Amino acid sequence: MSIVNFTALKKFRDIEIDISFSSEKKRLVIFGPSGSGKTTVLNILAGFLKPSDGVVTINGETLFNKSKKINMPINKRNIGYLPQEYTLFPNMTIKQNILYGVKFKNRVLDKSEVERLVRRLKISSKLDDFPTNLSGGQKQRVALARILLINPSLILLDEPFSALDAPIREDLRSLILDISEDVKIPIIFVTHDIEEAYIFANDIVVIYKGKVLECNDRDKVFMHPDYVETAQLLNIKNIWEIKKIDKKIIYTKNGYRFYYPENIVNDVKYVCIKPEHIIIMREDMPLNIKYKKNLFHGRVANIFYRGHYAEITILDSNEEDIFISIPKHISDKLCMRKEKKIRFSFDNKHIILSKSIHE
Ligand code: ADP
Ligand code: MG
Repeated sequence: MSIVNFTALKKFRDIEIDISFSSEKKRLVIFGPSGSGKTTVLNILAGFLKPSDGVVTINGETLFNKSKKINMPINKRNIGYLPQEYTLFPNMTIKQNILYGVKFKNRVLDKSEVERLVRRLKISSKLDDFPTNLSGGQKQRVALARILLINPSLILLDEPFSALDAPIREDLRSLILDISEDVKIPIIFVTHDIEEAYIFANDIVVIYKGKVLECNDRDKVFMHPDYVETAQLLNIKNIWEIKKIDKKIIYTKNGYRFYYPENIVNDVKYVCIKPEHIIIMREDMPLNIKYKKNLFHGRVANIFYRGHYAEITILDSNEEDIFISIPKHISDKLCMRKEKKIRFSFDNKHIILSKSIHE
C-alpha cells in the first residue's frame, strides 16, 4: 500500500504548482531547486495550505479530497512537521519545548520514553536550559524530540540542516537515518542538496518549476533520469543534444557518435554521461572490446582536486569540454597533467538518454 499518495493543484501569482506522486517507501525525498514548490507540497500535506484541486492520502487515510469535500483539520492529521524556518519558544525551557506538542495531542507519556529519547538525541543535559544557550545542531535535536514524542504517522522535514555547518549536518543526518530505521515512522525529507538526497532517499521525487520530473527509486533517478533537467539538477556535466538516432547509434549536434547497447525506440533528445563513468584508457594496455566503440581522444585542459577526487576537464579535437572524475590516486598513477594527450571511453550501459520538458 502507498504510504503517500499526493495530487494537488495550487495556483500562485507567479507559478502553478501541479504535482502528483506516490510512494510506498519509508524514506521519500523531495528534491528540487529553490522555488520549485517543495515547501508548498509539505504545507499541503500538513494542512497549512489548501489546494484548489487534488487528493492527498497518507497510509490509506484521506487528508484531502476536493471532489468529496474532505479537508482534514491540521490537528487531526497527526503529522510531525519541521518547517524550514522552525524556531523554539525562547521563553520556555528545553523540556517545556519538547513537551509542548504532546500537550495538544492528549498523549499519555511514559517518563522513560522521554528519557530514552533525550538521551539518544544527546540533549539530556540541556533540559533546564533556554533555547538561546543551545547551538544550531542542538536546537534541531530539540525540535526533532518534540516531533517524535507526538508519535506522528508521518514526519515532514523541510531542509532541516541547511543552516548548519557540515560536521553537525553529517551528525544529524546519520541520527535521523538511524531513528528512521527503528521508529517505523515514514519520513518525507525536502532538500536541494544532491548528496543529502542520495543519502536519505529510498524513493525520490524531483520537482522543477511546480511540476514533477520524476518519481522513482533513488538509484533509477540518479543513474538514469528521464529528463535532461533532472540530469542538470544532479550536476551530470556531460550533456549533449541529439541530432539523429539510427537504431543503436546516437549522433549528437556537436558531432559525436555514441553506440548504445540496444535499439533506441524512445523519443529522446539528450545524451548524458556522468563524469565518474568515463574511463581513461592507458596507452600501454590493450583495449577491452567493451570500450572500443565509444573511444574518444583529447588532451587535459585542467585538473581540479576535490578531496579524494580529481576532476579533469578534457578538450577534444573540436575544443569541446568533457568532464571526467576519477579518484586522485588513479589520476596520480596515470600521471595526469595539463596538456597530456589521452584516450577515454565508457561502458555503454552508462549512457543516459533523456527527454526535455521543453519538447
Ligand atoms: P521551494 O520550497 O521549493 O523553494 P516553495 O514551495 O516555497 O518552493 O515556493 C514555490 C513558489 O511558489 C515560490 O517561488 C513562489 O513563487 C510561490 N509561492 C509559494 N508560496 C506562496 C504564497 N503563499 N503566495 C504566493 N506565491 C507563493
Ligand atoms: Mg522551501
